[in-house]
Amino acid sequence: MTTEYHDLIFERSQPGRTGASLPDSDVDAVDVQKKFAGHLLRDQPAELPEVDELQVVRHYTALSRKNHGIDNGFYPLGSCTMKYNPKINEDMANLDGFQFVHPYQPEETVQGSLQLMHELQEDLAEITGMDEVTLQPSAGAQGEWTGLMMVKAYHEQKGESRKKVLIPDSAHGTNPASATVAGFETVTIPSNEEGLVYVEELKKYVDDDTAALMLTNPNTLGLFEKDIVEIASIIHEAGGLLYYDGANANAILGKTTPGKMGFDIVHLNLHKTFTTPHGGGGPGAGPVGVKEKLIPYLPVPRIEKQGETYVFNSEYPQSIGRVKGYYGNFGMFVRAYTYIRTMGAEGLSEVSESAVLHANYLLKKLEPYFDVPYQQVCKHEFVISGARQKKLGVRTLDIAKRLLDFGYHPPTIYFPLNVEECMMVEPTETESKETIDAFAHVLGEIAREVEEEPEKVLEAPHTTVVGRLDEVQAARKPVLRYMSDKTQES
Ligand SMILES: *Cc1c(COP(=O)(O)O)cnc(C)c1O
Repeated sequence: MTTEYHDLIFERSQPGRTGASLPDSDVDAVDVQKKFAGHLLRDQPAELPEVDELQVVRHYTALSRKNHGIDNGFYPLGSCTMKYNPKINEDMANLDGFQFVHPYQPEETVQGSLQLMHELQEDLAEITGMDEVTLQPSAGAQGEWTGLMMVKAYHEQKGESRKKVLIPDSAHGTNPASATVAGFETVTIPSNEEGLVYVEELKKYVDDDTAALMLTNPNTLGLFEKDIVEIASIIHEAGGLLYYDGANANAILGKTTPGKMGFDIVHLNLHKTFTTPHGGGGPGAGPVGVKEKLIPYLPVPRIEKQGETYVFNSEYPQSIGRVKGYYGNFGMFVRAYTYIRTMGAEGLSEVSESAVLHANYLLKKLEPYFDVPYQQVCKHEFVISGARQKKLGVRTLDIAKRLLDFGYHPPTIYFPLNVEECMMVEPTETESKETIDAFAHVLGEIAREVEEEPEKVLEAPHTTVVGRLDEVQAARKPVLRYMSDKTQES
């Protein structure tokens, strides 16, 4: 990456420069001084950059090029499913009828949008094996919280106040966080040496204070919990519920469903499995599906079909209420719906096959260079360990930094917590064999460097705009707003 001339100018603001010319006002001027002095008016004008349009375009274009995204490189971030977001999704979301719809419009003027949401609910119910779905939650974590609030309502309805939510040690960090926010105590369940739930151990933790078990299957190590049916019956017999973290459903689409495995509640991340943009690319969406016994507690309003008409229905007295303003992130529903309809049932089933094949292929290619803690067929992702490299003085963090030099986003590192020097890799089905081969080759090269010229890895990255950040300072004292030279001086 070269330093461009305009990177050399940090402060672009020039007093009086502007990128906009406003038409003459056609309303009477208000004397702001007189009307708001000492009340709403600032003492000083706001410190805003004064720049022309071209500077703004260059600024944002330059920023976008400093950022790594799925559209400019491989992004094998385990547990996050960074797969390609087809551009047809954007075309559909940008149709005038969807883009300019207003949440306060009367139902009869938004029948098409409601139909799309209703059909998406039905598709997701079928994909997960659930009876009903709400689209409201705007993230995976919010879906978890929504599900857990329903768990709470369900037990309370039966006159029980169960307090414990069981969560395996390999779970995603949002699971214990959501359970805590929902007012439960979390109990960590240890995995066995195969990386799976230790069934005999689990039994010791289950009692009549168990509200739910939260599980993801395949789990965060990319392994299928083969004892899931037995696990489900242990929890159900104790009167608890099973929550499925379906953020990454890439391995099960069209193959099996959480419903079949015995789960009662599922959330999905449209921004992972269903190709809606992820992170800075757009807001999330974390729909939640439930089995029949939990339907009364679903958030309202629910979108229903009455005869040939689609309606909002809030007549559910036991509902946990609204969990999001309006009806969820509608633009994401259009994208996910487009994806599901583009792929069709067979296409989605092929997604799982390819995702699993790609992960196993890459795992085999990396086996000569890295320790593989769990020697079994993986699902859509896998973990390897940099323990061998650590003995030579190079840590997984260094390997991740070195990958940046080759234009790759590193895999997830140091997660799950139960694997030493962990790297968690998810290639996804949308990558070509050539991309996967090239990535494996580069990781092999880095493993060789660790042995022969470790300083190259220890000092990485060499080609990025910035080198190693002080991550503690960046997290504790982030500089998040524009500061002109003047503000910095004062
Ligand atoms: C991403 C993820 C979540 C959380 O989803 P957000 O949309 O980031 O809140 C939960 N569980 C798993 C397994 C995930 O990968």
